Amino acid sequence: MIITRQKPFVDILAALEGCSSIFLVGCAKCATVCKSGGEEEIWQMQEQLTASGKEVTGSIIIDEVCHMLRTGRDLRGRKEMVGEADTLLVLACGAGVQSVSSASEKRTVAGLDTLFLGNIRRLGQFEQRCSLCGECLLTETAGICPVTVCPKGLLNGPCGGMQEGLCETDREAECAWNQIYQRLQSQGMVENLRKTVALKDFSKKLKPGKLKIEK
Ligand code: SF4
Ligand code: SF4
Repeated sequence: MIITRQKPFVDILAALEGCSSIFLVGCAKCATVCKSGGEEEIWQMQEQLTASGKEVTGSIIIDEVCHMLRTGRDLRGRKEMVGEADTLLVLACGAGVQSVSSASEKRTVAGLDTLFLGNIRRLGQFEQRCSLCGECLLTETAGICPVTVCPKGLLNGPCGGMQEGLCETDREAECAWNQIYQRLQSQGMVENLRKTVALKDFSKKLKPGKLKIEK
């Protein structure tokens, strides 16, 4: 799931300077779960914008705004309301905003900050476990990601700052490499740690990403 957070309303309003009529786009998937761009947030945004003197011409919650064909089709389905607006305010992740800006020539404003790929701990609680590095090491590290969970991203930890299993950057948090060690030990695979993990090949990180999976 892509974790997003709504920008402060004052920033959204500043980004909308010079715009008078706005069409709102929300997302029924990740942004709804994050409570940043679902039905409730679109409704609240409409109220706030109206109270600030902006005209809201309409709104839509698209099933997955990152789906470019669906977003284009759904916006065409609301073409009158979209046509009356000078700006589209999108409450979806950065991928979603770019689906909208590809589907429409109108000014597009991002209402959310896109934070990370997150695991859901429970409703409203998310954890970053993967940084999308493009070359996964989890097989070697007992299913715990040092690139993400270690604040230094060390591939051959722990660093000298670990104390009693806790991280030197946050004494409340368990060191990622201590977690890896404990897990490998319980699996009888602690010998894994004798191998030095090679330097990260950052060329594997897809940026800009253009992976196309054919079936
Ligand atoms: S090693 Fe890379 S791909 Fe694997 S979980 Fe960590 S960041 Fe994600
Ligand atoms: S103490 Fe552990 S988790 Fe913290 S920075 Fe050092 S190796 Fe990384």
